[in-house]
Amino acid sequence: MTDWERVRRLMGDDSLSRLGRAHVAVIGLGSGGGFVALSLAMSGVGRFTLVDMEDLEAVNLTRHVADSRYLGWNKAKVMADLIRHRNSDAQIRIIADDITKHPDALEGVDLVVVGVDGEGTKYKINDLCLARNLTAVYAGVYARGEGGDTCVIHPYDGPCYACWAAELREGLGDQPGEELDYGLIQENGTLKGEPALWIHVTRVASAQADLALNELLKGARPDFPANTLVMANAPLEIVSGQTTPAHSGVWVNIARDPHCMVCGDRLRMADQAMSLDDLADMMFSAPPEQDEDSAARRLEDE
Ligand SMILES: [Zn+2]
Repeated sequence: MTDWERVRRLMGDDSLSRLGRAHVAVIGLGSGGGFVALSLAMSGVGRFTLVDMEDLEAVNLTRHVADSRYLGWNKAKVMADLIRHRNSDAQIRIIADDITKHPDALEGVDLVVVGVDGEGTKYKINDLCLARNLTAVYAGVYARGEGGDTCVIHPYDGPCYACWAAELREGLGDQPGEELDYGLIQENGTLKGEPALWIHVTRVASAQADLALNELLKGARPDFPANTLVMANAPLEIVSGQTTPAHSGVWVNIARDPHCMVCGDRLRMADQAMSLDDLADMMFSAPPEQDEDSAARRLEDE
């Protein structure tokens, strides 16, 4: 049995009980998602649906909470095992597959943590969450780990992920499921940012886990100032003309786009919101122009 006494004294009975009853789905259990899942379990979250179709490979070991003892295991099973060794009371459901093949797995879930890298996959998860009115916490790490962002998406109350990405991403930049290039994959790599990659990934993941905890404990903790935190691991120009120093961040509130192709009012009222496949076809054939006036911009390619 996990001994929660010290946590209970700090947090109080009510908050710890709330977390113990909370059911969080973590989709994508790589370096970021695995760290978030473990962190939430160590904070007292009691119920998990863990989703990942991939196995842990040798190349993952330098940036994953699991070590070589888990090589060849499915990542959802890896994380279930690690969580049970931290929180023996945790109830865990494992989906060792693509979430889009198991949308019913999200029934009864209180919050979704999105740990996948591919923007296309994030759009699909956005669709699943909107259909079920599920709040989701997303995160992204920029090239070489120089920075990253995390945001909370409440369906139809603020932006959906598509509205959000239209402001802070260049739309669907990669194919669904494609792995993000952290800048390590070029032939000779580049030293800028790399030695601290694991630290920088988990720093963003740590903020993502904190946003998730705040959602689960709404009312018991002060609200964060905006729906998005953009973090600088190295000095970054997050707001145009200003350099944000390393190890600091900027809170940005992204608004819902009433004309959004996924959650827009007109489409919603007509009950004919664009299907995901239609959206993906459109986005891939004609990437949207980047809004140069947006408060924060894509930082990967300087
Ligand atoms: Zn939207």
